[in-house]
Amino acid sequence: MPRTHSSVAIVGSGPAGLTAAVYAARANLAPVVFAGHLYGGQLMLTTEVENYPGFPNGIMGPELMENFRLQAERFGAVLHFADVTKVDLHHTPFHLWTEDDEYSADTVIVATGASARWLDIPHEARLRGRGVSTCATCDGAFFRDKHIVVVGGGDSAMEEALFLTRFGKQVTIVHRRSSFRASKIMADRVLAHPNIEVIWNTEVTEVLGAEKTEALGLRNVETGAAGVIDADALFVAIGHDPNTALFRGQLDLDAMGYIASPDGVSTNIPGVFVAGDVFDVRYKQAVTAAGSGCKAALEVEKYLEAHEAEHAAALA
Ligand code: NAP
Repeated sequence: MPRTHSSVAIVGSGPAGLTAAVYAARANLAPVVFAGHLYGGQLMLTTEVENYPGFPNGIMGPELMENFRLQAERFGAVLHFADVTKVDLHHTPFHLWTEDDEYSADTVIVATGASARWLDIPHEARLRGRGVSTCATCDGAFFRDKHIVVVGGGDSAMEEALFLTRFGKQVTIVHRRSSFRASKIMADRVLAHPNIEVIWNTEVTEVLGAEKTEALGLRNVETGAAGVIDADALFVAIGHDPNTALFRGQLDLDAMGYIASPDGVSTNIPGVFVAGDVFDVRYKQAVTAAGSGCKAALEVEKYLEAHEAEHAAALA
């Protein structure tokens, strides 16, 4: 038996993982949270969060996640700031490894989230939070009456662009091909919108600006012609990658690589539950992730009650 056994191991420390930790800790389950080297999830990359209920004046993303962490620790959750490198979910107790240690747990909550894809172009990372974003619902309201550029041609880009017309005086979609891959209804809505312009067959090559985003470098992929467009914001909407590589071959994944969950909380392995963006293709909001973390912890409690005798025997 590895030296560290817990009744519940939580992998991930965004709103889903840490809400699960608050609930599991308050149920006296002493959860162990594998928070990763960089705890807190995607909100650590945003500035002000205005749509998390309970904060009428908004709160900075990192401060919100610090509060989540303190609340979980207050009730006895133990956070390890290490990445899980391997799991074995074939047998109970389940086993998890970090670079330095091996752990076991009676139940596991997978809350590893999804990572927004970035363009990987010059100055994109430097100006993140200063005009460059991957989340229109988080950051759109900061660009009232500004010129906003969205990159992408899928449903996410359509949705972001339509949402951003509430704020920007002009929204421009830059797409690398001559047609959208988005559903027809979304594409039609975008193409009919008076405040959305589309620049086809074009890539954004760099973000320009000293302290904040001021302009974008462009390149026409057909002619190679380079240009510059003034822009106050760049929203990158080229998809998300669920962080599921660790579980491939053990947990069922859907066609897009998200963890398949028939009911939004359980997985194909009894005792392994899921919470947050790692299964949620649709909503991807901090508050929905937190809600699903709560559900997963409540399911863990029920599962442990039902299997108490079995786990005691396995540990004896
Ligand atoms: P997606 O469908 O994979 O579309 C990604 C878009 O980004 C594509 O147009 C792609 O261009 C472009 N792209 C990818 N990498 C790029 C790069 N490096 N530079 C420039 N452009 C790049 O992703 P998504 O829009 O996030 O949608 C994912 C799934 O969720 C889809 O099944 C979608 O239908 C679904 N979804 C549904 C809704 C809804 O129903 N309300 C909302 C959002 C998402 P190409 O077209 O050239 O490949």
